[in-house]
Amino acid sequence: MNVLIYNEFRHEQDPGCAAGKIYPEGIHSAIAGFLRKEPDISVRTVTLDTVAEGITEEILKETDVLIWWGHMNHADVPDRVAELVQEAVLNGMGAVFLHSAHKSKPFMRLMGTSCSLIWRESDDLERVWVSAPYHPIAAGLDRFFEIPADETYGEPFGIPTPDETVLIGWFTGGEVFRSGCTWQRGWGKVFYFQPGHETYPIYYDPNVQTVIRNAVRWAKPERRTENCMDCPNPPKAHTGMSTV
Ligand code: ZN
Repeated sequence: MNVLIYNEFRHEQDPGCAAGKIYPEGIHSAIAGFLRKEPDISVRTVTLDTVAEGITEEILKETDVLIWWGHMNHADVPDRVAELVQEAVLNGMGAVFLHSAHKSKPFMRLMGTSCSLIWRESDDLERVWVSAPYHPIAAGLDRFFEIPADETYGEPFGIPTPDETVLIGWFTGGEVFRSGCTWQRGWGKVFYFQPGHETYPIYYDPNVQTVIRNAVRWAKPERRTENCMDCPNPPKAHTGMSTV
């Protein structure tokens, strides 16, 4: 299967940001690193600098699952790219949105809601509870796993009610958050996964990697279409009622 990872790749190149020390090659390379160990997964990456050439209609047709990480430069992603991603999902491509991608253009287009939340950077421990242990995205996880320090995200989270809430995060500051949510959008599957603030080594965490690996396999399309945006005008399907 073909996975395409988009990462804004700005924090990691900011000398004043800890992200560059944690992810010297970028968050996309860290995620690509563990996904490339899977024999059935082939990975490409694209960053904001090349997003217009790296996320085209043709490339998305060849992509089974798109992973998206962005934060401070959401607005610099061309609207056309967000539109292409939305259409590709409606046609069947899977999409996994990580952490601050809750405010990315393609996620907001797919949700149609504010996608807002509360947040705080105070090194809280996060306990991520598995609320749907039967779900494929939870395979291999215990009842919960812990992230020693994470940015706090809290409710209310301005999303449409998920089809499944697979994970619920609890933070030592007291907040809770729907940390792993799924939606069907047209023919495509969408997963949002909250952990992943850029100043913590969260994408090296084995449980986080398990969730992302599982999510990619879950979101892989079994079938897809090319014309979900069309409104066909066919002739009558039949000419009379059957008397049988
Ligand atoms: Zn963050």
